[in-house]
Amino acid sequence: MVTAVKQQYLRQLPAVDKILQDKALDAIRDDVPRSLLTKTIQEVIAGKRELIRKALSEEELELLDISVPTIIKEVIARVKDKIMLHLRPVLNATGVLLHTNLGRAPLPLSAVKALQEVAGSYSNLEFSLQTGRRASRSEHVEELLCRLTGAEGALVVNNNAGAVFLALNTLAAGKEVIVSRGELVEIGGSFRIPEVMSRSGAKLVEVGTTNKCYLKDYKKAINNRTALLLKVHTSNYKIVGFTAEVPLPSLVKLGREHRLPVMEDLGSGVLVDLRNYGLHYEPTVQDSIAAGADIITFSGDKLLGGPQAGLIVGRKKYIDLIKGNQLLRALRVDKLKLVTLEATLRLYLEEKKAVREIPILKMLTLSAGELKKRAEKMAAVLEGKLAGKKLGSKYKVGISEEKARVGGGSLPLAALASYQVFIEPAAINAGALAAKLRKASIPVIARVKKNRLLLDLRTVREEDDETLLRILLETLAGSNY
Ligand SMILES: *Cc1c(COP(=O)(O)O)cnc(C)c1O
Repeated sequence: MVTAVKQQYLRQLPAVDKILQDKALDAIRDDVPRSLLTKTIQEVIAGKRELIRKALSEEELELLDISVPTIIKEVIARVKDKIMLHLRPVLNATGVLLHTNLGRAPLPLSAVKALQEVAGSYSNLEFSLQTGRRASRSEHVEELLCRLTGAEGALVVNNNAGAVFLALNTLAAGKEVIVSRGELVEIGGSFRIPEVMSRSGAKLVEVGTTNKCYLKDYKKAINNRTALLLKVHTSNYKIVGFTAEVPLPSLVKLGREHRLPVMEDLGSGVLVDLRNYGLHYEPTVQDSIAAGADIITFSGDKLLGGPQAGLIVGRKKYIDLIKGNQLLRALRVDKLKLVTLEATLRLYLEEKKAVREIPILKMLTLSAGELKKRAEKMAAVLEGKLAGKKLGSKYKVGISEEKARVGGGSLPLAALASYQVFIEPAAINAGALAAKLRKASIPVIARVKKNRLLLDLRTVREEDDETLLRILLETLAGSNY
């Protein structure tokens, strides 16, 4: 049909060079390599050409906008998308505090400041300012970790998976490690005790059953090839019903009797007793040290609230052995991690300060009443502004009361009372709205339940409420439904 008309449209498409030289592109010209700009123009024009070719009727052709200003607008949008950093901040409105896909713990402000100072500068990373000689990089946090946990020695590696691997490889390669069957955890799909164990060169000896394990089970399995008794905190599940597990102090006693070290993989590793804040008990590192564990490993970016890191604390004799392992080099931490970890740990010297300034602890201990107030305020403002833009009939807005979760493989049973602003679109589905919000200037990640978009405020910093509101309005008003 329309071949002749199509030819006409195709001829009207502007040349790449013409667009390239257009003054409207001057604003971005200096920030973008010429080759990238040229390539993007080619892509946009090719896209238009394709649309012309695919058009089925003359009406469809008439709807196509192939004017120079439109093409330039599309080029600029595309270029901006290409030069924007791929890794960037998002607003977490999911209500999952330690969202592994969203980077687990946001850092405290003091850690961010310390990072800024050290990152662009030289530092005393492995240099003693006292002697002028080489020093160890983990010194910056070792003493602090010992002071906070009561341990004799400490060491930091890349993450907790690395910490467990390195400790097992050092203390048990070629030998046997005894673990309860109820504690063979898998965390986040890739950390599995049996696999880590075999990669470390240690041989896993499972004892007990899934739901019950007694001291006699460990006792029976000990022989002259045994190197270690391992206890793993089942941080992302709980076995309930008829259960039995051996408490750490009993395992420590057994270890002492047989001159075997006892290691505990704590996973989350909190330094404050969460019961003081109305939450479930999560074993603290201090409790495990006090119970006599010889080596304890835990993460830096779970409930501790710092950067991704694997912390190893315990008896000096074992920590020194682990420090001597050549593999440590492959798991070592860089200055960015060390400085943020040190700044985070320092806050724990005063518990009140830690709970106030470490975002994860703050979110964990926020009262539901405060969240309700914030949600009501945000919902009221949003509703009013939508009505002002004549969008009131398109979106129903209100507050809901659903539970927030800790996530990140921590406190699996803890459901935190929380409040959300909900948006229920009349004409489209909430999933499509969630997708739009992910593409906003600051991406917002929300939950969808039934046909409602839920924005949980427990994981949004109060100072970000205004930004969230602005993005919601921009997105809702900008959608042409
Ligand atoms: C989270 C967790 C790990 C893995 O820690 P990463 O810091 O994510 O490497 C290992 N063991 C337990 C018990 C955990 O909870």
